[in-house]
Amino acid sequence: MDKIDIKSLYFEELESELKSLGLPAFRAKQVYEWLHVKLAAGFGEMTNLSKELRESLRERYFLTALEEVDSLHSASDGTIKYLFRLMDDRVIESVLMKYHHGNSVCISSQVGCRMGCKFCASAIGGKERDLLPSEMLDQIYRIQTLSGERVSNIVVMGTGEPLDNYDHLIRFLRLATDPKGLNISARNITVSTCGIPDKIRAFAEERLPVTLALSLHAPNNEIRKSMMPVAAKYGLEEVMEAFRHYYERTGRRLTFEYSLVDGVNDKEEHAKELARLVKGINCHINLIPVNPIKERNYRKSGSENIQKFKFILEKYRINVTIRREMGADIDAACGQLRKSYIDKTGL
Ligand code: SAH
Repeated sequence: MDKIDIKSLYFEELESELKSLGLPAFRAKQVYEWLHVKLAAGFGEMTNLSKELRESLRERYFLTALEEVDSLHSASDGTIKYLFRLMDDRVIESVLMKYHHGNSVCISSQVGCRMGCKFCASAIGGKERDLLPSEMLDQIYRIQTLSGERVSNIVVMGTGEPLDNYDHLIRFLRLATDPKGLNISARNITVSTCGIPDKIRAFAEERLPVTLALSLHAPNNEIRKSMMPVAAKYGLEEVMEAFRHYYERTGRRLTFEYSLVDGVNDKEEHAKELARLVKGINCHINLIPVNPIKERNYRKSGSENIQKFKFILEKYRINVTIRREMGADIDAACGQLRKSYIDKTGL
């Protein structure tokens, strides 16, 4: 029989699991606490359980604990980028970012990604597999343990398309927001998507009022299609409609991410077109100078251009910020640490 992923179980599921093994109810509480509060990396750490009990748990369940392969520490802003090894030896990356309002962890949702965005390092090798809920959680748990820092915010903006791993994403979010576990407020979580309309609509019904961010990157279908293959499948009208629906159901202000690429989407006319596109939507636009990756020839917009782009949006009374570039000295751009590790080791 295949072992069960114990860290991906909801408390109620763990309770009925352990009950079926003939264990008293308080055991589920203890085990759940070891997993999600004390962040145990193995059954051996569960010292208030007998050796025999730990052994029988080990026989029936596996306990996901990511292994740190490498970490890069930014001297300029304290950002730490981690490379973690999974049970099957694949590697993923996660980032700890320190802000005045608290610490934020950016997690991966898949190993690789099949969305194929032209500017993104994670798209290059395609998708290898989905991450389990426990593997998403453990990125945060390990980072808390390794750094000694308490994490208050989560952004699902690392490698992968979270809505392409929908069921695991939902389970991860319910576990991360569980008051008996990590207990992070849904308001402090952002999920970023390239825009899959039917999944966005389903997500709106989950009663998980997280902030939803759309990787917009272009003011019209033509430019968007040239940057993101997914745009050929779902037009902007359909994606924006699904986003509006998410706002109506959750009341959460929407975020649009817009990576500025020199000469591609950063002209004055694009800013005006973007302003028209989001007119009347309660939103916030995050401008991101594109982070050039060596496999592609996209270039970052000049800082003057970026300021001008922002200024135009502001004239239309749109909430807009330029994303601070965190950890620029450590290659913290999406997927670059993992990519260079894979290139180096030939894995
Ligand atoms: N698949 C999801 C989440 C992962 S990508 C999504 O598409 O939103 C997280 C964000 O980083 C997206 O907005 C993505 O477009 C952006 N991104 C990826 N590579 C980038 C790069 N080289 N420079 C700037 N932003 C990048």
